[in-house]
Amino acid sequence: MDEYTPKERLARALKGESVDRMPAISVTQTGTVEQMEACGAFWPEANDDAETMAKLAEAGHTVVGFEAVRVPFDISAEAEFFGCGIKEGTKEQQPSVSSHCVKDISDVEKLKDFDLTEGRVARVCDAIKILADKYGDELPIMASMLGPFSLAQHMNGDDWFMAIMTDEEFATALMDLATEFNVRYAKKMAENGADTMVIIDPTASAMLIGDEYYKQYVVPAHKKIVDAMHEVDVPVVLHICGDTTMSLELMESSGVDAISVDQSVDVATAKSKVNNAAIIGNLDPVATLWKGTPESIKEASQKALDAGADLLAPGCGIVSKTPNANLQAMVEMAKNHKY
Ligand SMILES: [Zn+2]
Repeated sequence: MDEYTPKERLARALKGESVDRMPAISVTQTGTVEQMEACGAFWPEANDDAETMAKLAEAGHTVVGFEAVRVPFDISAEAEFFGCGIKEGTKEQQPSVSSHCVKDISDVEKLKDFDLTEGRVARVCDAIKILADKYGDELPIMASMLGPFSLAQHMNGDDWFMAIMTDEEFATALMDLATEFNVRYAKKMAENGADTMVIIDPTASAMLIGDEYYKQYVVPAHKKIVDAMHEVDVPVVLHICGDTTMSLELMESSGVDAISVDQSVDVATAKSKVNNAAIIGNLDPVATLWKGTPESIKEASQKALDAGADLLAPGCGIVSKTPNANLQAMVEMAKNHKY
């Protein structure tokens, strides 16, 4: 008999406490076509309807074998909530932001009075409740949301990267709005049963904006989310895309419990850069997990484990065409790994 439930095991692993073996999870999106076909819950419906969303999240556990359930599968509900245009997506493709909703500070003012009972973010909360009611005693209930910097960028468009350098008043106002949203949304997800929070902030990369702007705009925003989650005993994982090697210390300074790194980061180097944060990753979602074979995935997994990955996982969102057998190979490697 296992010593811990999957829920206890992941919570302990994220806190750096001893566990009997590695939990098998993905902190990034889990939806795939094979899972959709197995459970009958398909994108795009599963991005919008709470029951369908929960059903596809459940398939990550029942079909693939992940020891957690996780929603949602995309990162556009937050921008949609504030009025950005959305391209709906298909069975294989996630929805994406097609137009922006904030030009200047007067637009920020107009958006300050928001209501989390509206829009797709409310349905994500409903899906969390469904999953928590069914699995909350046993499995980690993982919630993810787009982080504040990338949300601001979705709202403002590519002008955002100029704005942080040239218009501090506007950039601060928009970051404050996005952060306030993230804190309230995260709290609501936790109230509905989420016990692990993943901040996906793809463009909040010090590689893109430099250490100084990262320190000024991103760290305080992430810290507010982390503090709010730690108040309710919810650990926080931060995922930023690309080569984050040189910014891992800055990323950790917000207080996050774990950092999810992609395949461009060397795991052993990452481990040497952080103090306490667990390093999660970093199998290439395309070359390894989608295009690879169970054998090649086991090899890549062993490499990440040997390098000291605290949790073996995809380095970014799973590609929808990824075969179950490939994901199962990674799950098996994680489950067989003792620290
Ligand atoms: Zn990524």
